[in-house]
Amino acid sequence: MHTTDKPVRPRRAVASSETAREINRDILLHTIHLQQPVSRADLARLTGLQPSTVSVIIGQLMEEGWVVAGSLGRLPRGRRPTYVTLNDRHVTLAIDLRPGKANLAVVDINGKILGREAVAFDIKAGSTPEEAKTAIAHIARAARSLRATYGDRVFQGLGVSVSGRVDQRTHRLVFSPNAPWGQIDLYAELQKVLGTPIEMENAANACLFSERWFGTFNDASNLLVVAVAEGVGTGMLVDGRLARGRDDMAGEFGHMPIEESGPVCGCGNMGCWETFASNRAGLRYYRELAPESTLTSFQELLDLALKGDIRALRSIDKMMTYLARGLAMLAAGLAPEVIIIVGDCTALWPRICPLLESHLIAKSFTPHTPRVVAAMDGDAARLRGAAALVLHKVLFRQVDFAPRHEREGERDNSKLVPTHA
Ligand SMILES: [Zn+2]
Repeated sequence: MHTTDKPVRPRRAVASSETAREINRDILLHTIHLQQPVSRADLARLTGLQPSTVSVIIGQLMEEGWVVAGSLGRLPRGRRPTYVTLNDRHVTLAIDLRPGKANLAVVDINGKILGREAVAFDIKAGSTPEEAKTAIAHIARAARSLRATYGDRVFQGLGVSVSGRVDQRTHRLVFSPNAPWGQIDLYAELQKVLGTPIEMENAANACLFSERWFGTFNDASNLLVVAVAEGVGTGMLVDGRLARGRDDMAGEFGHMPIEESGPVCGCGNMGCWETFASNRAGLRYYRELAPESTLTSFQELLDLALKGDIRALRSIDKMMTYLARGLAMLAAGLAPEVIIIVGDCTALWPRICPLLESHLIAKSFTPHTPRVVAAMDGDAARLRGAAALVLHKVLFRQVDFAPRHEREGERDNSKLVPTHA
């Protein structure tokens, strides 16, 4: 949690109408989220809102159960202020859906994972819709049991992070070359078996939400999340906005062709970046070096590498060299401040970080090479991301990555009053 008391920049100016109340509420929730435990006086100072406005809204948030009064603050003299925090009884169910497994968790409003569960199933890109539905039924069973375990909490919905792109208008999976989820109406299927409000998003985008909600980079305007798993997907925060593109398809850099004569990719093209830099590529490199091997999963390869197996280490180095090559292209084109790598490979971070960084520095044409960091908690980053999708929807109804009036093309500023009036 952040202890600095630098002013929190509201995502948009403070307004004066009914909508304004909603916006001010979101700004306060966001500020409490970042600064908690925090006093009402500090909230007024940090947001630029009138102390009386802060008191009224905090009162409402307490009535609604979003905020609770915590410990008493310490001041040299005078009345001791009461600190407020978000109420961690509020939780979300999070599912990280991969091609052959699903991780589930109950995550509280502060990003703490209270309990988790894993479900494995034998389905892949070519599986039938019936097989996909059976897997969903297994997941639903685990989800219901996890929900029952935390029956005393207030569930706000289900967040799903999925390897594939999700059209946010139709909730349909529009691109999912490595998994069979596109063959069914995944959103409707989950709603049918779990009966709860659902937010579903691409895994890399979900991790971006997680960084903004729970991470260290909640103030950065240009962030790139690169999720390395069965494929390579990216989530991009550009000038403070989540880049979505047509049909929410933006971010599929995994399918930029980097070698025309390369291996066939799940998307049907040849030589895509992810055929060289994904976990599957790492496994392929190892099999080339050790044809006698019976390795079947990237985790086994990682275990070998962590034990110091030379061929395993070389395979992962090769995978990382290709990862670095693509990152240099992304850095040149998008100018991110930070690149966050999400994936099992980060278990070898002390080895792979210098490799990625030195390549980026070597290819950089400006003095501002982006920092490369690992989302150290691996799987948990995708789960927290799934939870952040729900919290973002439920809590920040008026505040998005970009100011709402800009998002909707609304240019009428007459309703707005200056932030620091
Ligand atoms: Zn491809």
